[in-house]
This record gives sequence, structure tokens and C-alpha cells, in this order.
Amino acid sequence: MIVTRFAPSPNGPLHLGHAWSAIVAHDLAREAGGRFLLRIEDIDGARSRPELADEFRRDLEWLGLEWEEVPAQSTRLASYEAAAQRLLAEGLLYPCTCTRAEIMALEPKIGPEGAIYPGTCRNWRVDPEKPAALRLDMHAAMERVGKLTWEDDEAGVQVADPREFGDVVLVRKDAPASYHLAATLDDAADGVTLVTRGTDLFFASHIHRLLQAMLGLPVPRWHHHRLLLDPDGRKLAKSRQSGELGHGLAERRAGGEDGRALAERLRMGQMPGGITLSRFPHGAA
Ligand SMILES: [Zn+2]
Repeated sequence: MIVTRFAPSPNGPLHLGHAWSAIVAHDLAREAGGRFLLRIEDIDGARSRPELADEFRRDLEWLGLEWEEVPAQSTRLASYEAAAQRLLAEGLLYPCTCTRAEIMALEPKIGPEGAIYPGTCRNWRVDPEKPAALRLDMHAAMERVGKLTWEDDEAGVQVADPREFGDVVLVRKDAPASYHLAATLDDAADGVTLVTRGTDLFFASHIHRLLQAMLGLPVPRWHHHRLLLDPDGRKLAKSRQSGELGHGLAERRAGGEDGRALAERLRMGQMPGGITLSRFPHGAA
């Protein structure tokens, strides 16, 4: 049984890139007689706008997709806490009170997710009065689990090597879990067997494979799909106010467009409005 999911965050309206991502996940499940799940990733406290989740459901319906909805992330905080406590007790996490400015002042190397944490807090006790994130001791974690592999539908078998991310944050100062921890735990809890997402997150799968090994979770397969690029060759993004460029789904829906017809065109690779699919199938956006 193939189980896929679409997992949007309600911090901005969905755009054509999300439609593409949802359609890919939906169709991979449907073609295999499997299940397609919707999960709202709403633990980004300050930026979360709960009313958007209803808009997302209307968008998916408009595109002609059918789904089963699983509980939103905000209902799963106990599982994130339990996993973090377990890794902390095993000595694989450590508290970090560094601010972004303090990290940048050390002129860190830049990795796939931005600055690589220079490890400042790894070896001493931090001030318990300061807000702390929990970081993964990447070296200790890799020693613990040994060699790991994971498999992408198209890129094939990958040797998991998350070291270039450095000591990633698993519990944020301002949220109960990082994307890496929450998404990995949720996909396991929801029985997702085929993790679908854009190639921009290809390297994150190295981290997720490591977390699965550390937490004793089942290992899915992955399908990283190409990205929709705007006419300037940049990934469509909420932060670029894609709604203003006519890429927003709610806006197109309100304008009377036929969502099912749009979904069919996307499936056939007929991208609207100067949008193209990224060329590089894996790793590079
Ligand atoms: Zn620190």
C-alpha cells in the first residue's frame, strides 16, 4: 500500500507550486491504489494563521483531489517532546542559546540550509536562564547509527550523509520541534510509505533518514519532484507574494478558473504564465 501526503503550513496562501506538489503526491498514491493524506503543519506559532487551513481544503477540492485528513501538527506536541527527551537522555542533543547574530559573527561555513552551526555550545553548560534550542550532535549521532542508505524513486539509492548540515536544530527556541523532527515523526505516525516533496528538500532526506534510525522509525521511500519556477527562474514562494503575480490558488479559484482543468494542464506539463519546471531533477533547485 502506497501512502503519500501533502503537508502545507498555514502561514500563507497556496500557490501553483503547492498545487503541483499536491497533485504529484495525490497521483502517485491513486495510481497505485493507495492513500493520499492531508496534514496541516501548524506549529510555526507566530506565523500560523489557522483560518488558512480551510482555504487549503477548498483549494484541493477545486483541483479535483480527494484526500484523508490526519491530525494537524499542533495536536502532536507530546510526540515531539517524547522524541526530544529520548535523544537528550541518550546524549545526542545539547542545548544551544546562541542567537543568529552570534552565530553569524563567527563567520560560519554555509551549508545546504544556510549557516552551519560552529558548535559553540556543544562542550559547555549554557546559561539556564536563556532560551535554548536543542541541537543534534551530528558526529555522535552518525557514530551511533553507522552507515545508512535511503532510496529516491528516480535518483536511486543514496548513502545518507547529513554531516554537511552540521548540528541541526531539532527543537526550536520558538516552536516545539524543527521541521526535520516534526515531519519525520509525523510521516512515521501517519504510515507514509512514499515521502514526496520538492527537489529543494532532497538533502534534508539525509537528516530524516538519520532521525529514523535514531528513533527506531520505519523507513519510507522518497520521491523528490521538480519545482515550478517563475519567469526569472526562481522557485515560486509565498514570500515573493506570488498571489500578486497571479499564482495564488485562492485568487484563481475566486476568479472563476476551472481548477480540474488547471490540474490536468499541470499534469501534462503545460505550465501557465511563463512558469517552467526546474531542469535538474535532483539536488539542485
Ligand atoms: Zn549555541
